Amino acid sequence: MTALKLENVNKSFGPVHVLKDINLTVEEGEFVVFVGPSGCGKSTLLRVIAGLEDATSGTITIGDEVVNTVPPARRGIAMVFQSYALYPHLTVKDNMGLGLKQEGQSKEVVEERVGKASAMLDLDKYLARRPSELSGGQRQRVAIGRAIVRDPKLFLFDEPLSNLDAALRMNTRVEIAALHRTLSASMIYVTHDQIEAMTLADKIVVLRDGRIEQVGSPMDLYNNPANKFVAGFLGSPS
Ligand code: ADP
Ligand code: MG
Repeated sequence: MTALKLENVNKSFGPVHVLKDINLTVEEGEFVVFVGPSGCGKSTLLRVIAGLEDATSGTITIGDEVVNTVPPARRGIAMVFQSYALYPHLTVKDNMGLGLKQEGQSKEVVEERVGKASAMLDLDKYLARRPSELSGGQRQRVAIGRAIVRDPKLFLFDEPLSNLDAALRMNTRVEIAALHRTLSASMIYVTHDQIEAMTLADKIVVLRDGRIEQVGSPMDLYNNPANKFVAGFLGSPS
């Protein structure tokens, strides 16, 4: 079963053509990593998939539904940002549960899902704290928890670890890999980090100037990069 299908997706901001004829399939349960230089359109592509931006043309299909006109909250997607985007005045528990409440879920369902996600992420002890009373790594786990409680079919991560120090990045990377196995959801993950890409991905998508340059497994791309640009990104011997 296909989780996501993009067909000839284009996105322009006024005269600026940012995404150019994107064609891509993500299978159910697949972990797909987007890499590419700053400004090549990675975040825009995630935002178009999530429905935070409309595609200028092309078709976005999630599961078996064309979602071009479906609002973000009904796409079965959860997004985790680099900046965490937590509410400073809310506790960890309320940050994690807010989206569910807004969906109209009962108090019991909210309690149960927040409890489960916080156990999964080792956040049980911090539920009453506010974001300012947490470390960067804990804040990012809250942001991940807020995504998990919605039980999405597809997770979108936009450089989630880039604000963390090296040791924490590694720990959190291992946690995300474990979550992927536990939840058996599809994940799309944007990163600049070659090690994250090589260790997390089933499939790597290399973007350049709004186009897909090459798609393949980490080993495919490492051993058979289409050109110097791809080789440079994956650290292939030249
Ligand atoms: P990346 O995430 O790969 O660094 P982005 O998707 O953020 O790249 O940006 C791709 C291009 O789209 C950049 O040139 C950026 O300036 C432009 N862009 C992104 N969002 C907007 C917007 N809301 N309005 C105008 N231009 C935008
Ligand atoms: Mg970006």
